[in-house]
Amino acid sequence: MQIRCDTHAHTVASTHAYSTVHDYWAAAKQKGIDLFAITDHAPTMPDGPHWWHFGNMKVLPRMVDGIAMLRGVEANILPDCSGTDIPENLKPFLDIAIASFHEPVIPPSDCATHTRAAIAAISSGCIQILGHPGNPNFPLDYEEVVRAARDHNVAIEINNSSFMHSRAGSEPNCLKLMELVDRLDWKVVFASDAHSAFSLGEVDTCIAKAEKIGFPSSRVLSTSPGRLLQFLAEHDKPVVAELPELAADFR
Ligand SMILES: [Zn+2]
Ligand SMILES: [Zn+2]
Repeated sequence: MQIRCDTHAHTVASTHAYSTVHDYWAAAKQKGIDLFAITDHAPTMPDGPHWWHFGNMKVLPRMVDGIAMLRGVEANILPDCSGTDIPENLKPFLDIAIASFHEPVIPPSDCATHTRAAIAAISSGCIQILGHPGNPNFPLDYEEVVRAARDHNVAIEINNSSFMHSRAGSEPNCLKLMELVDRLDWKVVFASDAHSAFSLGEVDTCIAKAEKIGFPSSRVLSTSPGRLLQFLAEHDKPVVAELPELAADFR
């Protein structure tokens, strides 16, 4: 399985991350990544930039050296089933939005509460990806969440760093999620969650785990820019029309 897109990376705009967009473009070229997204934390997180960061990403180039960069956010799933912290007026500035559970924003409680909060985010119309849902601090009714994600055309993220150095104990949950996605006929992205450009495109553990359980690459949107952009076209994202060559590149 070859992964040519990475949908989750943090720049220096999230203060616990260490690379700039220049670093990411250089790393993408070196590593054979055709498309990546910068997805810094939304401001509700203590290390997130001001919303102006997200509204001004239009000043950045679309492509450098044939490699495209999507302007994204890693937003927060909010308590009280109020969806995500993405303001409605920011939606047109975002090519891609992830929503994740983060402890500083939503204190862990119980499975039913987490499941309702996740489904509120999924059905908000503001996001395309559910970020690192295998976190054992936030148990979920995975079947209910995957069904809701499929019904609202939101991809499930399998996060490589959840297998490595973040959110210890995620692995069995991520494997269960992949099995459910396959059984329920849905889609995932494999993503690095890079906090420095050295990690961009590092999804080797996702690939190894998927191959071990026979998870088909046809369910992985990150195998080509064309597949990922087609998915974003289903969300009416104008970026797709700005990248016609990559949009045609299906593998
Ligand atoms: Zn996160
Ligand atoms: Zn992240």
